[in-house]
Amino acid sequence: MSRWLLPVWNSFSNGICRIERVSQKEKKVQYFKGKSVYKGVTMGPVVVYKKQGEQVKRKAIENPEAEILRLRQALEMSKLQLDALYEKAVTEVGEASAAIFEVHKMMLEDEDYLEAAINMIRTECVNAEYAVTMTGNNFSQMFSSMADEYMKARAADVIDVSSRLARNLCGQREQGTFMERPSVIVADDLSPSETVQLDKKKILAFVTVHGSTNSHTAILARMMNIPALVSTDVQMEQLQDGMIAIVDGFEGTMILNPDASTCAKAQKRIREEEEKVALLQELKGKDSVTSDGHKVMLYANIGNVGDIGYVLENDAEGIGLFRSEFLYLGREDAPSEEEQFEAYKQAARMMAGKKVIIRTLDIGADKQADYLGLQQEENPALGYRAIRICLKQPDIFKTQLRALLRAAFYGNISIMYPMIISTSEVQRIQAMIEDVRQELEEQGIQYKVPEQGIMIETPAAVMISDKLAPMVDFFSIGTNDLTQYTLAIDRQNAKLDDFYDPHHESILRMIRMVVENGHRHGKWVGICGELGADAGLTEEFVRMGVDELSVAPSMILKLRKIIRETRFKA
Ligand code: PEP
Ligand code: MG
Repeated sequence: MSRWLLPVWNSFSNGICRIERVSQKEKKVQYFKGKSVYKGVTMGPVVVYKKQGEQVKRKAIENPEAEILRLRQALEMSKLQLDALYEKAVTEVGEASAAIFEVHKMMLEDEDYLEAAINMIRTECVNAEYAVTMTGNNFSQMFSSMADEYMKARAADVIDVSSRLARNLCGQREQGTFMERPSVIVADDLSPSETVQLDKKKILAFVTVHGSTNSHTAILARMMNIPALVSTDVQMEQLQDGMIAIVDGFEGTMILNPDASTCAKAQKRIREEEEKVALLQELKGKDSVTSDGHKVMLYANIGNVGDIGYVLENDAEGIGLFRSEFLYLGREDAPSEEEQFEAYKQAARMMAGKKVIIRTLDIGADKQADYLGLQQEENPALGYRAIRICLKQPDIFKTQLRALLRAAFYGNISIMYPMIISTSEVQRIQAMIEDVRQELEEQGIQYKVPEQGIMIETPAAVMISDKLAPMVDFFSIGTNDLTQYTLAIDRQNAKLDDFYDPHHESILRMIRMVVENGHRHGKWVGICGELGADAGLTEEFVRMGVDELSVAPSMILKLRKIIRETRFKA
């Protein structure tokens, strides 16, 4: 072994866990501007989000010893690779430069490293990929906090070896992400499928360099009740994991490395916001009824069963939009009938008799699942998405309809269909529902054909809402897409955020028209797009006769307060 390697090796094998962190030098405060998609303030450590493919997903495992065996095999494979790399480097760049691969190999042989990873597998019952990645991260942090420049530089090597091990364990097939503690996620961009894979309990805020305020990622941030900025002028290279950031969704700012007085101010803001939320708590258990006695149904939007905690916490009266497509994202195959049945049944059970409106698969455009083999399109928002996929690929749709009809037997479920443009689509859906019903009947499986409605989110559906109304049980207006299609503005295009105006008179007129047509046929009409949560319009919506508002759970109590202060009859 070269003599210069000895200090590294000794430090490593003497147990770097015992090396103390040196305090980091005072860093410069930096300010960044972004577009806010959720108003809130938070402060915490940054996690720089790396794109899928570089991430390792945490998985619960049942047999730790089998995982440890896998780890040992991957370790041997990694060592062989490093030997080969060393030999190649010696001939190509000389022994001194090639020595780094020897260091990597020694790191892999280090007992503390291996023991830490094995302990994690045994005590937390997690997969080996995750355990080696986390162990590598911990060790790397310890190296980077050392005063010695040489040792500091080894931080990257630990990450490098851990990634090699993880790659050998999973062949880079696994995707996902991990976070140890609640953090501010900073990413170049986040797709909805990446967002759904994040552990929501560990996200303090999202900050993205790209992204539009109307994207599904922005909607998810609102649903999760966390401050979020998109189109932020930060450069990813300026960031490191662990830097402290303040994200202020009111101001649309991110402050990196805040000094003590900025931190104190942020903490004061956080407390004030908490107090405001606490004040709204007294509205829990009260009815969403105007001062002159007119009832409005105040429901919540969710992406999966895990969000029902927020729904109950905020005392929503039901679920007005369960975006079922999130069950289909961030995975390698479609959810089975059984899996969907369990999810929908659980949602109905958790809501204990309150209405749960499940929207059928609205995939395509920004929500992609590789296994569906959807092709790239020039105009995805105007393309093969939502009900169009379901009608063209009836196997996928029927699996979902079977799960829905079966789950409806166990609770107050309604079904809602997205992106409708014609009466013939509704007829085709009705025929498929009848097929599924007959099938379940013949198989002796318990089911119920529940209330069914459609989303009104295309100008076509608005204009024929008088014809659609007699065919369905309710309308739910999707203002996000309705704005996109009416104003001819791609909701994903951040450059057009300033033009995307859901307050446009055309949209408000359309909402009024849909309400009138729905009511004329005795059908209730709701709004489940983001505009429904616009507190500045609540009074107007109530007076228009909108029967239901379905909004992010965090907005429920705020809107209840406004509804209770509104007079229905002016
Ligand atoms: C809408 O378009 O308003 C809607 C609620 O659906 P999504 O945002 O999921 O497209
Ligand atoms: Mg929509």
